[in-house]
Amino acid sequence: MSYCICVDIGATRLRVGLGIRSGEILDIVEKSTREIVLEWKDELSIARGIEDLIRRLLSKNNVDLDKIVGIGIGSIGPLDVRRGVIVHPPNLPLADIDYVVKDYLEDKFGKKVVMLNDCVTAVWGEKWYGAGKECSNIVYVTFSTGIGGGVIVNDTLLLGADGNAHEVGHVTVDPRPDALRCGCGGIGHWEAYCSGIGIPRFCKLLADNELKSLYERSLIKGVDFQNYDLFTRKFFEYLKQNDEFCKQVFEKISFFNAVGMSTVIHYYNPEIIIIGGSIAINNSDEILQFRKYLNLFLMRGIRVPEFRISPLGDYAILKGAIALVFNTPPTYVKFVRE
Ligand SMILES: [Zn+2]
Repeated sequence: MSYCICVDIGATRLRVGLGIRSGEILDIVEKSTREIVLEWKDELSIARGIEDLIRRLLSKNNVDLDKIVGIGIGSIGPLDVRRGVIVHPPNLPLADIDYVVKDYLEDKFGKKVVMLNDCVTAVWGEKWYGAGKECSNIVYVTFSTGIGGGVIVNDTLLLGADGNAHEVGHVTVDPRPDALRCGCGGIGHWEAYCSGIGIPRFCKLLADNELKSLYERSLIKGVDFQNYDLFTRKFFEYLKQNDEFCKQVFEKISFFNAVGMSTVIHYYNPEIIIIGGSIAINNSDEILQFRKYLNLFLMRGIRVPEFRISPLGDYAILKGAIALVFNTPPTYVKFVRE
């Protein structure tokens, strides 16, 4: 049997799995990305962390390196896809570093390495092993710390001039000059309002202004806006308990989600939009509520796609990484050659 190594480089966890062609993941080992970055503090930190985990995984499972076909990687961005480098990742503790990944692993293991953005990898995983199997036009949208996307049009994985054809989280949903500023530097972006990091900021804006009196009576009052991970979890917990402040904020979030999704629909004409990421997976009924506002924004006659919460869930990136090895996207092959 032949195997592949699948890698998910996340802001919190680095996961390395042993995969086979059917998409099954036989075993996973993981380590904190932060720890790995702070252990070496240089441009090879992440690559060395992956190397260690691969060696551990192979010996644990008694698999010889000869049996490995290649290494697929879905990574946090931004990426220089041609060089296989993570460029100044804002969500890692040492953001000034460019992390060299691909060349190092190719040298160490002598195997093909295919590395793409995590959401681009996830959409490829959904196409081969998940909700996109029957479709040629698929968009994957993730709601987690940020909002990310991956796009397949007519079976072609879109990469764009620099590999950024999928940055749907940065479409503008609020064009006013005093709109919230996004982590990327732009203003009024979808991610600035509706992501794990955006929701606390949007709540703060409304708590200071139009929803001030509701905030005073809200269960969420006192939860630290800066601790975005905890805040967003509490936000959905209290939303489900019918907290009035959370409910009113969430109506606005759903409205912006409809703006973002309608833009995605107009751009790519998908048959299906698969929604992943921890926020969507843990709060699927809530996240899908944007559908009631969708018609406000959609062009008449355009196909309304099916919306599905990702069946691959937390494994979408790892499964996508398996598909990157066994079914390498032709767009990628062409892209790295140019
Ligand atoms: Zn942005």
